[in-house]
This record gives sequence, C-alpha cells and structure tokens, in this order.
Amino acid sequence: MPTLLAICGPMFSGKTTALIAHLAQHPGALAIKPAIDLRYAAAEIVSHTGQRIPAHAVSIAAEIEPLARDAAVIGIDEVHFFGRDLTPICRRLLLAGKSVVLAGLERDHLGEPFEPFPSLLCDADQVIKLNSPCAVCGRPAIHSQRMVQTPGRIVIGGAESYQPRCRECFQPAPAPRAP
Ligand SMILES: [Zn+2]
Repeated sequence: MPTLLAICGPMFSGKTTALIAHLAQHPGALAIKPAIDLRYAAAEIVSHTGQRIPAHAVSIAAEIEPLARDAAVIGIDEVHFFGRDLTPICRRLLLAGKSVVLAGLERDHLGEPFEPFPSLLCDADQVIKLNSPCAVCGRPAIHSQRMVQTPGRIVIGGAESYQPRCRECFQPAPAPRAP
C-alpha cells in the first residue's frame, strides 16, 4: 500500500540518516535532493554523520514527477527547500501507487511552521519526529537556532550556522547570543 512517511525535527537530529536507512530497505528507491544543497555532494544525499546514497539533485519540485515515473519508493531530503509546490506532487505520487518518504525541517529559524512540511504532516500515514540534545543545556531540542545574522528563511549551513536548542534556550533571530 502506498504510504507517506514524514521525518522531521531540528537541525542535527538525524533526519537524513533516518531517510537513508529507510531508502536502503527498498532497492530501486529514487532519492531526491534540492540542487541548492551542495554542502557535501552533488549526486548523493549525505548525512552529517557521513552516510550516503546516490541521489538526483533537482532545482524545483516540478522536476520530481518525471524522475519518479518508474520508482515504487521516492525519498526526498531537505523538503523545506521545495516550497508549497511539493504538497500536490506528493499527493499525486501517492495516488499513483508510490510510497514517499520525506525528511526536512517543520519549523523555520523563528520557530514558526515552515511549509510545505506542516501540510505534508497532515497527509502523512506515519510521522517520525526526531530531536537532538540542546546545544546549551542538553535537554531534547525541538528548535534550530540560527547562529549567523542572515536574513531570510534559507541559510545553507552546518554546525557554524545552526544549533539545536530546546524551548527554553531558543532565541529567535535576528540576534542570537552564543551560550
Ligand atoms: Zn536548552
């Protein structure tokens, strides 16, 4: 049965690792990543901890359906880069009998819902919400604290740009203070 599995949580919570582990169970699964995210490799999805699988890098959500024609399982990383166009595409893939696995941020750097993930959470058959230890106090973190003063919702970066933070330690941009 086609299912939608949604994996979310803050930066450094293991979303990509969980996506890779799930896709590894389905030989022939199609892996998709945004072309904007070239932090580690253009033709692979790579987790912060070094796991990797081959992937197609696409610039806009509309490129996904033609690529997915022959795939039974489609995994999409960094869903927040694709915008609201992704939601109807995922619905069509499911109606076409395909299973979809999504990984991405459900909140932005201000702690607000970050579409398309909130809409896709409503559609999901199964949700895995991960957390990581707060960088300040070690309690479970649900937020991604931006550590650089950059406007806009999209900043590509790793440990120098973001920290996982719990509710108490989270300081919404634009003026984060280092602990
Ligand atoms: Zn904390």
